[in-house]
Amino acid sequence: MEINLEQITLESLPSLSKTGSTRSILRLDKVHPIVSGNKWFKLRYYIAEALEGKKSTIASFGGAFSNHIVALAYACKALKLESVGFIRGEEAGSITLQDAAKAGMQLHYISRNDFNDKIYLKNLYHQPDWYWINEGGYGKIGAKGASTIFNTVDLNSFTHIVCAVGTGTMMAGLIDAANCHQQIIGISVLKNNFSIEAEVKYLLKKKDQPITIFYDYHFGGYAKHTPLLLNFMNELYLSEALPTDIVYTGKLMFAVNDLITKKYFGDDANILVIHSGGLQGNRSLADGKLVF
Ligand SMILES: *Cc1c(COP(=O)(O)O)cnc(C)c1O
Repeated sequence: MEINLEQITLESLPSLSKTGSTRSILRLDKVHPIVSGNKWFKLRYYIAEALEGKKSTIASFGGAFSNHIVALAYACKALKLESVGFIRGEEAGSITLQDAAKAGMQLHYISRNDFNDKIYLKNLYHQPDWYWINEGGYGKIGAKGASTIFNTVDLNSFTHIVCAVGTGTMMAGLIDAANCHQQIIGISVLKNNFSIEAEVKYLLKKKDQPITIFYDYHFGGYAKHTPLLLNFMNELYLSEALPTDIVYTGKLMFAVNDLITKKYFGDDANILVIHSGGLQGNRSLADGKLVF
């Protein structure tokens, strides 16, 4: 695995230009095709802690299409650590999980009921030399890793930084790393998950920061998508050569475009969108739905 932070680029988004504001995108998706985007940043300090503690194995939780699970599998393989994934439901056989297994991850399929009781699962499976990471990489160590997204490229000139929100770990890291003239805006990809604000706040070092999350761009819920979304993603690719994914970044870009159209941002705004990766997830779509 070559995690290549040098590949990260800052690109402009001319086709979204309907107002005087300027827009750019940080292409974290370019670091690796599978360990893409924010996942490497979120994992880095967990992995460092596991290595320091001389653990043999990292275990975590996720669904059948989890970017976190497959990223963890690849990262562990590269570092010669064992990995174990506890997978919700009985949905074996997704391409994501096949990839994780190919990278050497041991997979356990867990009923939805048991999956919700992480303490029970940890007690049942725990080994002394295992290191556990929360579902989706949620946690303060993950947020600390996400803060280092700010070290890749100079982001100082941006007034607004917009990112997709799953567990909110990346958003928390960005809020902690941002300068005081910058507003971090989250686009939730889950339906009605209003508890996320408290979950983001819990991770923050800067507890008094306002948290701005939009909840209207989930397209039916986590990993749900509509022809409107797929159309938007195809048009974006045709006009900007920008690939996005159906779970996170397609919805993020749709939201940014919509907020620009609705004049949420002022004319002098300098907007940065974080392309947090996730493109591997598009492989769960039927052929021909996307032009890329
Ligand atoms: C996991 C993921 C996110 C969400 O990150 P959180 O820290 O869980 O909020 C956003 N975009 C992509 C592509 C992801 O894979």
